[in-house]
Amino acid sequence: MSAVVTLERVTRRYGELTALDDVTLSFPRGRFVAVMGPSGSGKSTLLNCAAALDPPTSGSVAIGGVDVTRLSEARRTELRGKHVGFVFQSYNLLPVLSVEDNITLPLRLAGVRPDRAWLAELVDRVGIGDRLRHRPAELSGGQRQRAAIVRALAARPDVVFADEPTGALDLRTASAVLDLLRDLVEDLGQTVVMVTHDPVAASRAHDTLVMADGRVVDVLASPRPEELAVRLTRLAMEPAA
Ligand code: ADP
Ligand code: MG
Repeated sequence: MSAVVTLERVTRRYGELTALDDVTLSFPRGRFVAVMGPSGSGKSTLLNCAAALDPPTSGSVAIGGVDVTRLSEARRTELRGKHVGFVFQSYNLLPVLSVEDNITLPLRLAGVRPDRAWLAELVDRVGIGDRLRHRPAELSGGQRQRAAIVRALAARPDVVFADEPTGALDLRTASAVLDLLRDLVEDLGQTVVMVTHDPVAASRAHDTLVMADGRVVDVLASPRPEELAVRLTRLAMEPAA
């Protein structure tokens, strides 16, 4: 399996604190990977480093075979715009723009002409076609997150990182968003890496990484939700090393 993103001995420190501790791993193309772990275990830091949003203190990150830790900030931004999509818990849609303009904004900022047929397919697939001219405030949470997913996919990125994408959604809407992410992987070969606190959500992924104290402590293939819940409860009760 070819890797879309590879982290080699990545450490990220914030002052005295080691948020990510010597992590080596790769995200294979076309897989749906969940990242779990107690609060503060380094999940967001892992995603931010893997997405070239945050430079590691040491170690290297390669996206599509390019070592992003050696690029200037400008080149990193360019590479991110073309190869990486990001979905946040808080959607991060601009309130003054229509949903459609929000979706195409990153493309326009990167000087890339939107692929209209692709955008139409995505919009149709996520079911927000009748919401494109509305402002984000006029959409439900689930619709906003679906718009954010279309935005993340607009440039046909190699990988989509989602940091607790269902964290602000009710159960049913969260389940629909998970179905959507899973379908994008199954039907379009998209690579998705998703942080979640929900073992049921994680069980929809192909693989689940479990983090503790800035390290990946388990890699589980299609774990059952109960198995994950037990593992996480144990980790939460263990004193920090
Ligand atoms: P998680 O997403 O698993 O909850 P994070 O990756 O956000 O964990 O954080 C890991 C550790 O790094 C935490 O102890 C957190 O307080 C710390 N941390 C994260 N971001 C920063 C930052 N910008 N400045 C200082 N400390 C940070
Ligand atoms: Mg986090």
